[in-house]
Amino acid sequence: MPDALSQNLAYIRPSETVAISAETKRRRASGEDVLDLSVGEPDFDTPSIAAQAGIQAIQKGLTRYPPNIGIIELRAAMARTLSLMSGGRPVNPDHIVVSSGSKQAIFNACFSLFGPKDKVLIPSPAWVSYPQIVHLCRAEPIAVPGDPEWGLKVSVQDLEKNTDKLVRGLILCSPCNPTGAVYTAAEVKAIATWAKEHGIWIIADEIYRRISYGNGPAASFLDLPDEYLERVVVIYGASKAYAMTGWRIGAALAPMHLAKAMAAVQSHTTTGANQPAQWAAAAAFSDERVEQDVQRMVVAFRNRRDRVVERFRSSAPGVEFVEPHGAFYFFFRVDGITKGLTGTSFCDQAMAAGVAMVPGAAFGDDRWVRMSYAVSDQDLEKALDRILDLVGRLAASQAA
Ligand code: PMP
Ligand code: GLU
Repeated sequence: MPDALSQNLAYIRPSETVAISAETKRRRASGEDVLDLSVGEPDFDTPSIAAQAGIQAIQKGLTRYPPNIGIIELRAAMARTLSLMSGGRPVNPDHIVVSSGSKQAIFNACFSLFGPKDKVLIPSPAWVSYPQIVHLCRAEPIAVPGDPEWGLKVSVQDLEKNTDKLVRGLILCSPCNPTGAVYTAAEVKAIATWAKEHGIWIIADEIYRRISYGNGPAASFLDLPDEYLERVVVIYGASKAYAMTGWRIGAALAPMHLAKAMAAVQSHTTTGANQPAQWAAAAAFSDERVEQDVQRMVVAFRNRRDRVVERFRSSAPGVEFVEPHGAFYFFFRVDGITKGLTGTSFCDQAMAAGVAMVPGAAFGDDRWVRMSYAVSDQDLEKALDRILDLVGRLAASQAA
């Protein structure tokens, strides 16, 4: 770290997912035939009702500073959506702080809760930004390895083994980026019970909740009674299920004192999220026609998930993968294809073969590779041809 930069950045590394996606875009722009299965971003356009609401907001002059915590129309629509997904439980819009993407919401929550000497448990493999955000708060991220026999999820016993008096928080992502695993209702309740007993805060990143392939949305901490939620922050947003990544709208739902603290932090950093984008998201969360678009997109993701699993099972039967139950990621293991092969090496070779993916190293375990299947059916088939051909070639070289 050069002297000129602050200790705040002692651990900083740019986001690998963002970097790989930028590199892939650069290659495509220069004419290379690279299929982008790297970034976790829906290939669909923003539902037109939502986009129109954003345009109308601009035309109506709703272009001034927004209320710092978000316009009430959006907070109320989001509260209603979260309530409906959890059987009608009350959700108070005043406990919601809207941010510039859920990434900022996670930052606000961590920055308001954790500081020097605090430890924060992060089930691993984990999305790239969690450990980085915890470091930015000068707290210490503690990776808790997930169980490969159990979709790389963690159990209460795994959490307990890594817990001491300094542990103040847990960041849990379900449906999970990068694995596609989903915690069941019983698992969510067991973890909530354990955290409550220890007085540990849970940041429940439920951004992919709607993209779940069971019956209805994935299990949530909001399905639990109030007494479990005294130290729970639920992260939600418009990016994934509503195909609104570029609008940058996310949110945190938290107990009142924490919501106020996060709002104070945000009042000194962004003064709230882009106002026209908030109007677009308010329409997304409240218009029945957008709900139908979301359902169509989830069906498309499910079909692609089925296709990826089917093609790996038939053409690469020896390759281990996490059974994907949600989000739009397929996480497969490469170290058995040839002895000790790393995700980084596999991804370099895949890039040379025309497919961009993210090595497991970005998520804390380089025996794996993450593929995002949020791409068109046509690109997905072509990419699968290339990936499975590479797997076949590598396996044959090992056998030779
Ligand atoms: N959480 C997870 C698990 C993610 O994959 C992402 C994707 N970027 C985010 C949060 C942040 O999303 P956004 O800031 O676009 O809401
Ligand atoms: N969350 C997505 C991903 O993991 C988008 C990129 C990012 O913000 O990290 O690919």
